[in-house]
Amino acid sequence: MRFIDSHCHLDFDQLSSILPQVLADATAQGVTEFVVPSVTAKNLAAVNQLSHEHCSIHPAFGLHPCFMHAHQPNHIDILITYLEKFQPCAVGEIGLDFFITQDSVHKADQLQLFKQQLSLAKQFSLPVILHVRKAHDDVLQCLKKIKFDQGGIVHAFNASKVQAERYINEFNFKLGFGGALTHQRATKLRELASSLPLESLVLETDAPDMPLVNMLESYNQPANISLIAQTLFELRKESKEKIAEQLWLNTYECLRLA
Ligand SMILES: [Zn+2]
Repeated sequence: MRFIDSHCHLDFDQLSSILPQVLADATAQGVTEFVVPSVTAKNLAAVNQLSHEHCSIHPAFGLHPCFMHAHQPNHIDILITYLEKFQPCAVGEIGLDFFITQDSVHKADQLQLFKQQLSLAKQFSLPVILHVRKAHDDVLQCLKKIKFDQGGIVHAFNASKVQAERYINEFNFKLGFGGALTHQRATKLRELASSLPLESLVLETDAPDMPLVNMLESYNQPANISLIAQTLFELRKESKEKIAEQLWLNTYECLRLA
């Protein structure tokens, strides 16, 4: 069985300092390709560089809503340069995080940056990798208003079934499931992962973040995709081989990796 980690930050210090080992451990578990989103203008170069050094690494370029303090007005221009010059698989990660802020000014800033980047994705005909917390209805409203038709992934999905179905049916998105699924108490999430169409799911670690249940290391890594897949195998009725192959196809299709 082969797997893609549809969301990992291999350029972050904890992983980049030991990258050969991280990639070898992943390969040993059948995790052979990696989607690495950027988060600020500062790490666009590092993410791009990684993708040139390893053909198994697919870069995405975007400005993350949790790093508003780091973004400057000209960073959109830097992002545009990267979108023009290089071939990312998506604009990401971008989105809205209303969990980290209740402040209406901060929310408005996030919203403005998100809309700008959604427009860019549409303009460059690229899918998006979305980071969304406590803002799914706002994000869905933005997608609708801009008539976003490029699809993408809602990473670390955690919302209602109705919202899940809207992302899938109205906007052709895949939903990313990761380490949270391995926790027994995540009953709502497990119910979603077991009942949504297999064609709408992708796997991710969000490494080095998002710890799995009983994880011994202080950081998460792409090799753990195999443990997340194991949980999904237990939750669903299709065969392991069918699930693994469909998950691979889902990521390839929505990020047009072929
Ligand atoms: Zn991330």
